[in-house]
Amino acid sequence: MSEENTTRSNFIRNIVVADLESGKHQSIVTRFPPEPNGHLHIGHAKSICLNFGLAKEFGGKTNLRFDDTNPLKESEDFAQAIMEDVRWLGFEWSELHHASDYFDQLYQWALHLIDQGLAYVDSQDADTIRAQRGTLTEPGQNSPHRDRSVEENRDLFERMAAGEFGDGEHVLRAKIDMASGNINLRDPVLYRIINAPHHRTGDKWHIYPMYDWAHGQSDSLEHITHSLCTLEFEDHRPLYEWFLQHIPAPSQPRQIEFARGNLDYTVMSKRRLLQLVEENHVNGWDDPRMPTIAGMRRRGYTPESIRHFWTEAGVSKSDSILPMGVLENALRDDLNERAPRAMAVLDPLKVVLTNFPEGETEWIEAQVHPQKPEMGMRKVPLSRELWVERGDFMEDPPRKFFRLRPGGEVRLRNAFIIQCDEVIKDDNGEVTELRCSFDPDTRSGMPGASRKVKGTIHWVSAEHGVAAEVRLYDRLFNVPNPLADKDGNYLDHLNPEALTVVHGAVVEPSVAEGKPGDFYQFERTGYFVHDSEDSKPDALVLNRSVTLRDSWARLEKQLASQ
Ligand code: ATP
Ligand code: MG
Repeated sequence: MSEENTTRSNFIRNIVVADLESGKHQSIVTRFPPEPNGHLHIGHAKSICLNFGLAKEFGGKTNLRFDDTNPLKESEDFAQAIMEDVRWLGFEWSELHHASDYFDQLYQWALHLIDQGLAYVDSQDADTIRAQRGTLTEPGQNSPHRDRSVEENRDLFERMAAGEFGDGEHVLRAKIDMASGNINLRDPVLYRIINAPHHRTGDKWHIYPMYDWAHGQSDSLEHITHSLCTLEFEDHRPLYEWFLQHIPAPSQPRQIEFARGNLDYTVMSKRRLLQLVEENHVNGWDDPRMPTIAGMRRRGYTPESIRHFWTEAGVSKSDSILPMGVLENALRDDLNERAPRAMAVLDPLKVVLTNFPEGETEWIEAQVHPQKPEMGMRKVPLSRELWVERGDFMEDPPRKFFRLRPGGEVRLRNAFIIQCDEVIKDDNGEVTELRCSFDPDTRSGMPGASRKVKGTIHWVSAEHGVAAEVRLYDRLFNVPNPLADKDGNYLDHLNPEALTVVHGAVVEPSVAEGKPGDFYQFERTGYFVHDSEDSKPDALVLNRSVTLRDSWARLEKQLASQ
């Protein structure tokens, strides 16, 4: 892959440049603030690349902060997985924080608001509070508790914190403006009672802060200079700023919103990904069909390809859905440069080279990468019996079929030209073997090496080939936008062919030496990776990460339709 370009201009980068030039900031601090209630997905990677990328470019810092304000949905396991994913993407945070680290401070600041007459305890239920919020065209109504005294509010709030009440009995609300044109400013809830332990603070708290009350203050405590979030928080910005203006905040970060990254042929929200996992539509969060970072890693995506994809996609304020094909191309471009080549036969048909001495092995020197001599050579064994793809032979082929046919010639990749002399079939008429002769004069270095035949096919020595299970992955959904189906269910559009398991594939021996995560281009077939969960030295499992651009599979389809 060409050198990574992290300096692509965008409106956020322009703001950072201006703030550094004007001296508003000497250096920048950003943060990535995931909620540990699920695994990261490719959309999160956009935010990660943006936050870490900017800080890296300008010599600043990026914190990782877990937004762990809802103990009912969050766990340490998710937090650990998120850290692994961020590191795998190639980023290291300056400081690790948790919103829960700030619960004491947030509580003190809530008391501060109460003392200023800027917050009150409301004892109505959630439905009533919601109904009183009004609409875009109608102002809200004041709660009957809005004018409680400071003393009463303090007393109730302290008792909420002490665990004296049941869930939902009271909330603490900011006292802003029930007639505000911005609904977020209509006395938003700051704290709710949740009598549940938290994975980090244990039994200490019975009240937990709302996202809005925790987020900006956490940013301020960490001296975040630019707090980058997605567009749905644009309407929350006045609230973010109101909070920071009405407490003794240690710093005033600036919130800037950008459009979420979306991709077609998949879904991204954690809620839906959780549903896919829980209802067993996929095999876990790291299923290679999933758009999670863990799934994509297992599928064979590289961090380089994902970073490159988001850099090229840019950052803007308008929502869009990017084509999955662009992400797939980013992976192809990267693997085309870096993946060692190998041969694998997915649907084996036996070829016997009748003029090749029995019991002998010829070790062919083949390039690891045709354009990169520095990647060296590999040894590929050749013997009398080989496997070729069943699809590379046709008894009665159409005109443009340039592979094996009775009496026809084809070049064996890295070896020589063979001719098909005889077709052996079983009782059902099924082809079981091809008897071929090879032309020794067409080996590399021999006078006939440059003799042209129209087709070249890949092959594996039957004696030396290693059996493998191959998992062919495709897109998770078979329509670009499964959520656009308002009448049906997005699950109706799951692609049943997103996974095809091929048993009985055969790979060249060099592949058997690979370890989980090692990738290859199987010539003519696609890019593959050793499955990190299931592949064992004596039971290989290889995942197809992505097809080749002009994939053999597509050619196959085209031929079939002729
Ligand atoms: P989801 O809606 O997918 O569950 P989320 O926004 O609830 O995601 P968080 O854990 O709260 O997930 O997100 C952490 C950070 O990642 C936030 O700053 C959020 O804005 C950002 N983020 C989440 N999804 C995307 C996306 N698709 N594109 C860009 N940034 C995203
Ligand atoms: Mg969220």
